[in-house]
Amino acid sequence: MISFLDLKAINAACRDELLEACTRVIDSGWYITGNELSQFEQAFAAYCGAEHCIGVANGLDALTLTLRAWKETGRLKEGDEVIVPANTYIASILAITENRLIPVLVEPDETSFNLCPEKTEAAITARTRAILPVHLYGQLADMPALMDIADRHKLLVLEDSAQAHGASISGRKAGSWGHAAGFSFYPGKNLGALGDAGAITTSDAELAQTLRALRNYGSHEKYKNLFQGVNSRLDEIQAAMLSVKLKYLDAQTAQRREVARLYREGIDNPAIRLPHVVSEEQHVWHLFVVRCARRDALQQHLAGLGIPTLVHYPVAPHQQAAYAAWNDRHYPVTEQIHAEVLSLPMGPHLRAEQIQAVIRGVQDFH
Ligand SMILES: *Cc1c(COP(=O)(O)O)cnc(C)c1O
Repeated sequence: MISFLDLKAINAACRDELLEACTRVIDSGWYITGNELSQFEQAFAAYCGAEHCIGVANGLDALTLTLRAWKETGRLKEGDEVIVPANTYIASILAITENRLIPVLVEPDETSFNLCPEKTEAAITARTRAILPVHLYGQLADMPALMDIADRHKLLVLEDSAQAHGASISGRKAGSWGHAAGFSFYPGKNLGALGDAGAITTSDAELAQTLRALRNYGSHEKYKNLFQGVNSRLDEIQAAMLSVKLKYLDAQTAQRREVARLYREGIDNPAIRLPHVVSEEQHVWHLFVVRCARRDALQQHLAGLGIPTLVHYPVAPHQQAAYAAWNDRHYPVTEQIHAEVLSLPMGPHLRAEQIQAVIRGVQDFH
């Protein structure tokens, strides 16, 4: 049987180390903001090539709290505009509206599905203060071009790196390009905890300090509250799990790249458009997303062969009930992407014969 993603198998590969780490935390008697968290924060900051890492409860909080921190320190204010790709997962946009900032939805580049530098620059107004690029499906957005735009227009850049742990351009990883980056360690992400977890990376010391307070009731030292903060901490037990799993991330990324290489080599069905790869290092293959005009028929065909697939994502943010005021807007590129995408099984759990079965299944679709 082929699984879309098999977390049990992925975690089984380091089961003994995970158990050992669990035991260490249980026996320590210390469960919140301790050594496990600071060790993971240091390791992950170093991995990304950023000065600081601040663990939080999940990826959405990582994005929301970063924008909030910029408001608290006077770099953003209510009503400021934030440019974001129209085809992102809704969390990127929730982080903006939660802060009473205005999302400016921009159509993605048609081949990479990531924020298009030209359309981004064209969307800048007198009220634009930030850009929130999303490294969708694991491929880093065109950060050199976007940072150049941000520098020229004095804009803040928050990378949504929830799908792109370890992706890089010229050796520089996701999480080290923008002024800050939000990561998710949701179990199914490339680096996944055994529950919810997230983090922000940044090389801005003031931002890091503000975030450490915000995640902990706005308190920088016990019983003194600088901000009206929240409770969004990364538990010791999850930090310990993540420290174990971080050691395996690069090897698992290499396995994902091999699956992607085989898919790209083996699939040449004219009804299917393969994902566009700018460069090998730029993509860590959180998802392998093909496009097909008859997407639902392709999905059914594969399901009939026992090949599970998913749609990321079926409904665009501007068409959601949550953003009813935007429902009559049209973003043709985004809408077409949502109508045509299909994610094939992807992950380090896939065996050679399973990969070949997926390729055969896709090739047999007429
Ligand atoms: C998963 C994800 C998030 C949110 O992360 P959670 O940990 O689930 O809150 C944000 N943005 C993108 C692009 C994601 O894929």
